[in-house]
Amino acid sequence: MAEETIFAKIIRKEIPADIVYEDDRALAFRDISPQAPVHVLVIPKEPIVSVGEATEDQVGVLGHLMLVAQKVARAEGVGDAFRVVANSGAGAGQSVFHLHLHVLGGRPLDWPPG
Ligand code: AMP
Repeated sequence: MAEETIFAKIIRKEIPADIVYEDDRALAFRDISPQAPVHVLVIPKEPIVSVGEATEDQVGVLGHLMLVAQKVARAEGVGDAFRVVANSGAGAGQSVFHLHLHVLGGRPLDWPPG
């Protein structure tokens, strides 16, 4: 079971966020500490902890998040070159334990990432 997170409060509109997209299953808002000119977080409204803890019955919403990432990237003007990142687990840099896709673009994106 997912712990209550700051993203749950954003979903419920209890704390403000710069929301750029919303539908019945997903929300997208600007990262408070942007690492690129475009840095948007795409999250499911249901409390999935991480990619690592997602389950088969969540496959629909997981796919949906990818297409929301695509929509956001296009709307932000970076649809031809963007990166989607999901840190899964504290050891990989996950700090908020509500699954989120980072959508990054608007600058050269090096590979491999840090
Ligand atoms: P991660 O480290 O992969 O779990 O990513 C969490 C991201 O959430 C970080 O990039 C933070 O800057 C971002 N973040 C944390 N709190 C907020 C908030 N209230 N509004 C927007 N972004 C946030």
